[in-house]
Amino acid sequence: MDLPLRTYLIETYGCQMNERDTETMAGILESLGYVPVEKEEDASIILLNTCSVRESAENKIWAKMGELKKIKQKNPDVILGICGCMPQQEVTIQKIKQSYPHMDLVFGTHNLHQLPELLAKAQAARKMVVEVLHNNPGVIIENLPSRRADNLKAFVTIMYGCNNFCTYCIVPYTRGRERSRMPEDIIREVEDLAAKGYKEITLLGQNVNSYGKDLEVEIDFAGLLQQLNRVNGIERIRFTTSHPKDLSDRLIEAIASLEKVCEHIHLPVQSGSTAILKKMNRRYSKEDYLHLVEKLKNAVPDIAITTDIIVGFPGETEADFAETMDLVEKVRFSAAYTFIYNKRSGTPAAEYNDQVPEDVKSQRIQHLIDRQNQITLEENLKDIGKTLEVLVEGPSKTNPEFFSGRTRTNKIVVFRGNSDLIGRLIPVRIANAKTWHLEGEII
Ligand code: SAM
Ligand code: SF4
Repeated sequence: MDLPLRTYLIETYGCQMNERDTETMAGILESLGYVPVEKEEDASIILLNTCSVRESAENKIWAKMGELKKIKQKNPDVILGICGCMPQQEVTIQKIKQSYPHMDLVFGTHNLHQLPELLAKAQAARKMVVEVLHNNPGVIIENLPSRRADNLKAFVTIMYGCNNFCTYCIVPYTRGRERSRMPEDIIREVEDLAAKGYKEITLLGQNVNSYGKDLEVEIDFAGLLQQLNRVNGIERIRFTTSHPKDLSDRLIEAIASLEKVCEHIHLPVQSGSTAILKKMNRRYSKEDYLHLVEKLKNAVPDIAITTDIIVGFPGETEADFAETMDLVEKVRFSAAYTFIYNKRSGTPAAEYNDQVPEDVKSQRIQHLIDRQNQITLEENLKDIGKTLEVLVEGPSKTNPEFFSGRTRTNKIVVFRGNSDLIGRLIPVRIANAKTWHLEGEII
């Protein structure tokens, strides 16, 4: 079968923000007549949507750019592009120019809407086109086309950028300062999703708790949740990420009282040591965090709390790490994303001279993962015998007689079912629990 002339492939690395940007770029390309393909050799445009949070992610992307050279040699007409967080750093652009001259197009996180003109330039010029805005222009472009990856659950970006400058983190440098979308634009997008049959939305921002602070209209995140809770057709509202320093009582009250807002919060703690939290510029103490958890558990008794933890931040002693383990015991997270501290050049912590040796970091993370996995399983075992509401997503990858979906607490449940159930909210009685999923039967 002959392939259409205009085909594209976008490879996405990193967080949900990047996944959402990929949906926008896919929408733009489809509005220009491009169709998606799965193999690189079939694509007339290949875009790498990149992540800079850790060096391992960047290394994968450098290797991928090297491999793309072979594709270019076989098909000189293919347009090879790199976008997302990596090109926001000047050193990356220099390295691409010097060592990867087969790339045609380099653009940044603030240039997505310019994709049609950048593409046309790259096609006409036949030399590398570089367009990266380093200073956040402060403008949000609404109504860009979008090709969503799923037809049941959707990401909705409510704000861009970050103002927090945690000392380990590259994001404020690659994504710019906080900019909130206008509430009416968000509500319109969610109403449109509901009309298309979407059941669940996840509101995205690096720190959703500071939503609205930069707007002239009177609105905060709790207020936005109240408005979105009224959109007919949407059954579940999730959000990520919440910075503990900005988690207000008003927001806890909104989570507790709004029936569509799910009983799950991703609340990255990063460390259990108050001294390390201070060096990280997180602006809360271990006690502040534990107090927040207590308030959340009191207000929403079945809430599942997940987190991010970094081990081996510069200066982290055995005593500091013991504080992290103690916090993990006290909170009993339902899951934790654990990271070994990784130097990111341009961030303050990369310059600290008390870096922790790699072998110590590896031992600590293994200890943390082992204990957290036990806690995750123990917490899951508590669900046995309960009947939980599950949004059915689709057949299990390994056995077509089994289906899977998620609870309101964001746990995966596997059960015997059929494809008529997809997209429905059903009660499932939990019969068994594993570390990464629950097993149940429909009642
Ligand atoms: N805005 C979110 C927040 O504050 O929780 C997180 C965004 S960041 C993309 C996701 C996670 O990556 C962070 O919570 C942190 O645990 C981890 N991370 C960021 N920079 C890191 C670094 N230099 N080394 C290791 N982990 C890092
Ligand atoms: Fe990075 Fe901190 Fe901003 Fe999250 S809040 S994106 S960790 S600087």
